[in-house]
Amino acid sequence: MPLPHSSERRIIIALDGPAGSGKSTTARKIAHTLGYVYIDTGAMYRAITLAALRAGAAIHNDALQTIVQTSRIELLPSAEGQRTLLNGEDVSTEIRSREVTETVSSVSALGVVRSAMVECQRELGNAGGVVMDGRDIGTVVFPQAELKIFLVASLEERARRRLAELGASAANITLDEMCAQLRERDRQDSEREISPLTKATDAIEIDTSSLSIDEQVSQILAFAEERTKG
Ligand code: C5P
Repeated sequence: MPLPHSSERRIIIALDGPAGSGKSTTARKIAHTLGYVYIDTGAMYRAITLAALRAGAAIHNDALQTIVQTSRIELLPSAEGQRTLLNGEDVSTEIRSREVTETVSSVSALGVVRSAMVECQRELGNAGGVVMDGRDIGTVVFPQAELKIFLVASLEERARRRLAELGASAANITLDEMCAQLRERDRQDSEREISPLTKATDAIEIDTSSLSIDEQVSQILAFAEERTKG
C-alpha cells in the first residue's frame, strides 16, 4: 500500500450521496490506497436501529435517548471492510437486514441519535487521514473537509447494484421493489428536518451510473492528490 509522503497532509475525505450510489466500495478502496481509515457512518445508524428494534423501542427521541446511552458501537477495520460491533457483538450482517434497512431512516431522523453519532464521527475523523461516507459528512460532520465528493447514480442502476450486493438474500426482491425501497429511503433522508441528505455547495458531484468502481476510485484519488499537495 503506498504510504503518503511525509510532506503530504493527511486530509479528511467526505463522501456523501444517496443509497446505492457506490459510496462504501469506493470509500474503502480509496482509504486502502492512501493508507487512511475508512468509516462507514451508515453502519453506526444501522447499529442503533438494530438496538432499538431488539429492545422493541418506539421510534421517538425519549426512547432512542436511552438506546443511544446504553449502546456501545465499535467500528473495526477488516480485510472485507469495516466490521460493526454492538455492545461487543459482531452485527455486521444483521445491520443489513430488511427490517433494519426499512427502519433506519426514521431512527436517523431523530435529533438525539444524530447529535450522538455526529460527535462520535468527529472524534474518529478529526485528526485527518480518513475517508468517511454518509449523507451529511460534507455538510454537517466535517464542513471543513479538504475534499468533498457527492456520488449520484440513476435509481435503476442503484437498485441493480443493491440487489447484486445482497445476492441470495435478495432472491425474492424484484428490481421494481428495490427501486421503491431506495426511492422511499432517499425521500426520508432528503426531507428530514435535521441534516438532510444534500450536496455541499463545495462538493464535487460524480455520476457513477456508467462508471466502474475503478474509474470512480481513480477520479477521486486524482482530486485527493491535488488536495494533499495543496
Ligand atoms: O449508507 P447506508 O445506506 O448504510 O445508510 C443507512 C441509513 O443511515 C441512511 O438511509 C440514512 O437514513 C442514515 N444515515 C444518515 N447519515 C449518515 C449516514 C447514514 O442519516 N451520515
